Amino acid sequence: MSKTKAYSAASATSPLAPDTIQRRETTERDVQIEILYCGICHSDLHTVRDEWSSFMPTTFPCVPGHEIVGRVVKVGSGVTGFKPGDVVGVGCLVDSDHSCPSCRADVEQFCPAATFTYNSPDKHQGGVTYGGYSESIVVDESFVLRVPSNLDPAAAAPLLCAGITTYSPIRRWGEIRGKKVGVVGLGGLGHMGVKFARAFGAHVVVFTTSPSKKEDALRLGAHEVVVSTDAEQMQAHAGSFDFILDTISADHDINVYLGMLGLDGNVTLVGAPEKPLAVSAFALIFGRKSLSGSLIGGIKETQEMLDFCGKHNIISDVEVIPIQKVNEAYERLVKSDVKYRFSIDMASLKN
Ligand code: NAP
Ligand code: ZN
Repeated sequence: MSKTKAYSAASATSPLAPDTIQRRETTERDVQIEILYCGICHSDLHTVRDEWSSFMPTTFPCVPGHEIVGRVVKVGSGVTGFKPGDVVGVGCLVDSDHSCPSCRADVEQFCPAATFTYNSPDKHQGGVTYGGYSESIVVDESFVLRVPSNLDPAAAAPLLCAGITTYSPIRRWGEIRGKKVGVVGLGGLGHMGVKFARAFGAHVVVFTTSPSKKEDALRLGAHEVVVSTDAEQMQAHAGSFDFILDTISADHDINVYLGMLGLDGNVTLVGAPEKPLAVSAFALIFGRKSLSGSLIGGIKETQEMLDFCGKHNIISDVEVIPIQKVNEAYERLVKSDVKYRFSIDMASLKN
């Protein structure tokens, strides 16, 4: 075991603060990674504040962080895919049972024994897993991703969650070229959703509650921007979308977005507000519409997404912060004041 500096929350009402955790020694299958950058996902905040307590309660202390880019420092004797010095990524998953139907279908996120990067039972050390707000992490090589060398590591970190979470449902929807696609909420997930939908040839419309984000939305790749609090702007788009990706982190009226769909249209939820959303049957049955959900993506698809980003130079728009500013960043996240992902420079943990 090795002592590792980290930031943790001691309870749902405590700020994140310096802490020391233990990382396991590398087993033969493991890769030890020095963490360079870790993105701040709204899921980190939901978990730290125990907002998902009815579905997956938080075990404290909690070390969040699942958008990790780092450098390999050591590999176990059986590791074949990585060597010291490689720049790698770790997302929301660090292990699974490797054998269930979901694992065999490359959707390890749905494995009943999936080990998430934080707040998940740790089968090596007991207790729960600790995430990327730390100096280093030890991960089974099958959950380590290769980060294309042309991508800035600080801006590539958010691809490990915000990237794959938006890439996966957009790919799964089918041939999106020329389709009218809505992205609801211009935050960490939303801005990546805009980039991917645009890259795959859709006509992209951003729905935002923040009129000040309009110029950015267009720069990020949107063709049109709708301020969702403006009834007239909303009415102009009613019934016209093929697909809408909803990334909102808080309670909202989903029926409004079902109303934006055309015949057979689909709203896919990736946002995970703490309270259940009320769905009107009529909003679905008139127009044969569907509402579905999507959870991150499997390891194979995450690598495919990273390679796609490498090829097309797609990265996140990040505001790099030292870890000492993490609590301030959380306050800004709650106020939708992020442009468009915080990425923690983990060198600051040494200060
Ligand atoms: P984020 O950066 O905070 O972005 C969320 C955006 O939603 C905000 O920027 C804001 O956009 C909009 N919003 C916030 N509160 C709102 C409200 N009350 N009404 C309407 N719009 C509101 O968060 P994120 O990191 O992108 O995560 C978004 C959600 O996805 C979170 O719930 C997170 O836990 C979840 N998530 C799910 C998965 C998955 O696998 N399904 C993976 C990662 C994250 P505007 O200012 O443009 O309105
Ligand atoms: Zn996340």
